[in-house]
Amino acid sequence: MVRISNLPGRVAYFSMDMAVDPALLTYSGGLGVLAGDTLRSAADLGVPMVGVTLLYRKGYVHQRLDSFGNQIESYTEWSPEEVLEPLPARVSIPIEGRQVQLRAWQYFVRGQNGHNLPLILLDTNLEGNEPWDRTLTDHLYGGDDRYRLCQEVVLGYGGVVMLRALGFHDVRVYHMNEGHGAFVTLGVLELLTKNETPEAPLEAKLEKVRGRCVFTTHTPVPAGHDRFASDLVRRVLGEERAAILERIGCYEHGQLNMTFLALCLSRYANGVSMCHGDVSRSMFPGRKIGAITNGVHAVTWTSPPFSLLYDRLIPEWRKDNSYLRYAVSIPLRDIRRTHREAKRRLFEQVWRRNWIQLDEEVLTLGFARRATAYKRADLLFSSLERLRSISRRVGPLQVIYAGKAHPRDETGKVMIRRIFEAAAAIGADVQVVYLENYDLTLGQYLCAGVDVWLNTPLKPQEASGTSGMKAALNGVPSLSVKDGWWLEGHVEGVTGWSLADGAESEDSYHMVSCSLYDKLEHVILPLFYREPDKFAEVMRSAIALNGSFFHTQRMLAQYLLNAYSVEPGEPLASPDHPQPLAASGGRLPVEGNGTAASQESKIHEHQVPTSQDER
Ligand SMILES: *Cc1c(COP(=O)(O)O)cnc(C)c1O
Repeated sequence: MVRISNLPGRVAYFSMDMAVDPALLTYSGGLGVLAGDTLRSAADLGVPMVGVTLLYRKGYVHQRLDSFGNQIESYTEWSPEEVLEPLPARVSIPIEGRQVQLRAWQYFVRGQNGHNLPLILLDTNLEGNEPWDRTLTDHLYGGDDRYRLCQEVVLGYGGVVMLRALGFHDVRVYHMNEGHGAFVTLGVLELLTKNETPEAPLEAKLEKVRGRCVFTTHTPVPAGHDRFASDLVRRVLGEERAAILERIGCYEHGQLNMTFLALCLSRYANGVSMCHGDVSRSMFPGRKIGAITNGVHAVTWTSPPFSLLYDRLIPEWRKDNSYLRYAVSIPLRDIRRTHREAKRRLFEQVWRRNWIQLDEEVLTLGFARRATAYKRADLLFSSLERLRSISRRVGPLQVIYAGKAHPRDETGKVMIRRIFEAAAAIGADVQVVYLENYDLTLGQYLCAGVDVWLNTPLKPQEASGTSGMKAALNGVPSLSVKDGWWLEGHVEGVTGWSLADGAESEDSYHMVSCSLYDKLEHVILPLFYREPDKFAEVMRSAIALNGSFFHTQRMLAQYLLNAYSVEPGEPLASPDHPQPLAASGGRLPVEGNGTAASQESKIHEHQVPTSQDER
């Protein structure tokens, strides 16, 4: 039995992007799916957690594609009233010198044992607010810097204030999922020091904030971190709060860096795969940054056919995902038959959505992710000649694509058009389908129904990636550049196949594409067509080795052990000897037993049931 006896209280989990339900348009992609899967596993395990995000009445962009692959964008207005419960609480927070009122909506993430985990969705569309302020919770990843900064104030600062107003007095851990939520630290600072004089030393106050905050960074490239010009920050937050931020030392070249802010004021920080931990440490030298590799919610991402198979042969898998390890003994014919069913379900969708009938006998590659330059969706088509020749000589293949470009990502849009061009040029030999509006529902069909899941990012830009984990749960091997999670998940020829990463090469694009053609021609196609049992063995190992590990149940247990819990012997922060800022960012002393805070904490002990518990 794992006993998490030192979880100091409730965890408040802040994420700008949150995918909990296909009916809630509050997500765009990977970050949101991870956040939603985290809440789902917390609900399953009964971890005391509350999620916080924004309402986004107009959601994220809806994608349609014309026959040339031009992205046609629209925004779907959805009705929160139909799926969410309005809460009576109102709070107001200062933005640009105005008092902006917030309300909250509640959604319950239901765990497998009936535990309900609350998700709070913040909303500024209230009558007393200025027209512009009322739009602040309309769009996810839309608008300019000012709009975005105001949104981040609502999420982080407003979220802390709202949780208090809603009566969540037992929150002891504030988890910022990516830097968007970093103003949580400001909210916590004011909450914990409201009875102190303004003259009290700032460092001692910050130390209290550090005792409560945990931060996960997701961005392996410096340009990806949120930054705001200092005059904008002063305008939006006011002189007083901006001055505090400036004293914390989270500015760089005159800009507030949200990642710095979160790093400076967290007692634990982590990247989302082992290699992303390394990348993050080199980006922020001197900071202590750990690594907890992402996962996916196994029950959500396992297709109905495989769920039935596991229910029959490994019934423990739902409660304890690590039982998927015993997929090693599933008969290969069951693996093949079940995958065939998932493939048929996907092809039915392709027919219904695009009026294209794909051939079930043909090796099908899948590629679905945000259309953006570094993901290199078009890499498969770098030499149409070679691809055509492989399909003619070795065996036929077909490809299914999906993915939206951010409305302002012009190179992402070019990428989609290039795939359409390639598809038109090679269509006689290789059937290519691009499905519109990649979302949770489509993701479930896709990751389960193709034969090989392709991933060709420019290393080291894939912090983790999670779609390959969804594929693994469904016995779909990956063919991927060794970056992110795949560095940990790949066993060559056993769980899938890896591509040259080309990281040190001048012409990484060419190198990776050559390696891709070589693997298809000499390894994957021959195996698929000539040794179906050997191919099915790879499928089975993908489940047993990767499905059993890369799930959010394991990931959440790691957060409980490494990030949320307080070591029993951990010394208390001494206000007389404040830690210098330069030494912060890592695991710092937090409140332990005997402080007023831990005594008022309602939850001293929390147990995570494990298999032994149940048997
Ligand atoms: C899983 C998922 C993602 C993230 O997948 P990556 O491998 O990280 O690109 C993005 N969008 C949707 C809809 C998903 O289901």
